[in-house]
Amino acid sequence: MTEPQWLEAWTAEDGAHRVDELFTSSFDGSPEGVWSAPGRVNLIGEHTDYNAGLCLPTALPHRTYIALRPREDDQVRLVSAQAEGMWEARLSDIAPGAVNGWGAYVAGVAWALTEAGHKMGGFDAAVDSCVPFGAGLSSSAALEAAAAVALDAVAGLGLAASDAGRAELVDATRRAENEIAGAPTGGLDQSASLRCREGYALLLDFRPGLKPLESGVPVPFDLATAGLTLLVVDTRAEHSHVDGEYGARRAACEQAANLLGLGSLREIAPTLGGMGIDRALTELEPHDPDGVLRRRVRHVVSEIDRTARFADLVRDGRAADVGPFMLASHISLRDDYEVSSRELDLVVDSAMAAGALGARMTGGGFGGSAIALVRLADVDAVAQAVADAFAGADLTPPAFLLAPPSAPAA
Ligand code: ADP
Ligand code: MG
Repeated sequence: MTEPQWLEAWTAEDGAHRVDELFTSSFDGSPEGVWSAPGRVNLIGEHTDYNAGLCLPTALPHRTYIALRPREDDQVRLVSAQAEGMWEARLSDIAPGAVNGWGAYVAGVAWALTEAGHKMGGFDAAVDSCVPFGAGLSSSAALEAAAAVALDAVAGLGLAASDAGRAELVDATRRAENEIAGAPTGGLDQSASLRCREGYALLLDFRPGLKPLESGVPVPFDLATAGLTLLVVDTRAEHSHVDGEYGARRAACEQAANLLGLGSLREIAPTLGGMGIDRALTELEPHDPDGVLRRRVRHVVSEIDRTARFADLVRDGRAADVGPFMLASHISLRDDYEVSSRELDLVVDSAMAAGALGARMTGGGFGGSAIALVRLADVDAVAQAVADAFAGADLTPPAFLLAPPSAPAA
C-alpha cells in the first residue's frame, strides 16, 4: 500500500500572506494589493476549442496569487516562489518573439492590454501558486488571469467587474499566451480562470462571433448534494512531444475542415444545418488512405455532442448520470484522437475498477491529469486504488486533488 499524496488548496489568507511576504522581501515597501486566479479542470469537451466547439470547465480551489504595485516608469520586475531570480523587461520592449521565460505570461498580459488600447505602465509583482505546473490544470492561465485582474485594478479599467469585461480580459490573456509566451492554446483555459463561478461549470461555445453571454453560460454543478465529488489525479508524467503533437492535431482538423469546405468541424453538426458525421466521413475517405483524418474528425464531432449532453444532464440535476459520457470521451481521446498516455489510461482503468462512476483524461493529453467522478464515500478507496496501480507499475506516485467548482480570478 502506498499512501496517496494529496495536494491541498491554500486558503485565501495563506496565499495572500505568501505573496505579500515575497513582495516585501524582493522590493522596497508594500504591494498595492493582492489578486489571485484559479487553475481549471475541464469536465468534458477536449480538443474542441480550436474547432469552434463546446467544452465544460470548472475553476479549481487551487490558485495563483500575485502581489503587484504599479511603477512610475515602464519597467516590469517579477519574482516567483516557483522560479529563480528576478525577471525584468521594459514594457516597450515586449513584442512577439522578443521575450523568454515565465515572465512572458505576466508581461504579455500588459502588452496585450496595451494592444487593446488601454494605457499600461510598468509594475513590480510577486507570484506564488499551489496550482501544479504542467499538470494540465492550467497554471499558465492562472498566472495570466491573476496578472490580468491585478493590472485591470491598478489601471482602473473596470473590466473584471462584468462578465463582458472579463471576456475582454480573456482575449488579452489568450494573446499573451499565444503571441508572447508562444503557446498556441485555444482559449479554454483563460475563459475558465476568468469566467467560471463558484458552484457552477461554464459551458463554453467557441463559435466565432458569439456575444460573451452566448459564448460562456454558467451551468449549476452541484456534486456535493448528489453525494459526489470530482477527484483530480496529476499523473506527474513528463509531457513529451506535446507541442508538436498538439500542432499536428490542430493541423489535421483544419485540413479536414478545408477538404469538407467548412470553416470549422463544428459545422458538421446537423443541429447547425450541417452534413452530419456519416456524410463527412464518406467525403473524407478518398483523401484519407490511413484513416487518420476521419478518426480525428470522429473524435471532435462526437466530443462536442457528448459535451452538450453532459451539460444538459448537469443542468437537470443529474450529475450522477454523466459517468458514461466521461468514459466515452476518454476512449475517443485514446483511440481516435490518440492523445492519451499509459499513465492516463491507468488512472481511468484503476479508478473505474475501484467504483468511480466515470473517469477520463483531462487537458491536452500526453501526460497531465485525469479526473474521476466518485461517490464521497468512495474517495479514499479510489485514490488508494490509483496510487497502488501506479506503484505496481513502477511509475512516479501521482498527486490527488479534490475539485469542488470554485471562484474565478479576483
Ligand atoms: P500548465 O498550464 O498545464 O500548468 P504550461 O506549460 O501551459 O502548463 O504552463 C506552465 C508554465 O507557466 C511554467 O513552465 C511557467 O513558465 C509558467 N508558470 C505558471 N505558474 C507559474 C508561477 N507560479 N511562477 C512562475 N511561472 C509560472
Ligand atoms: Mg497552460
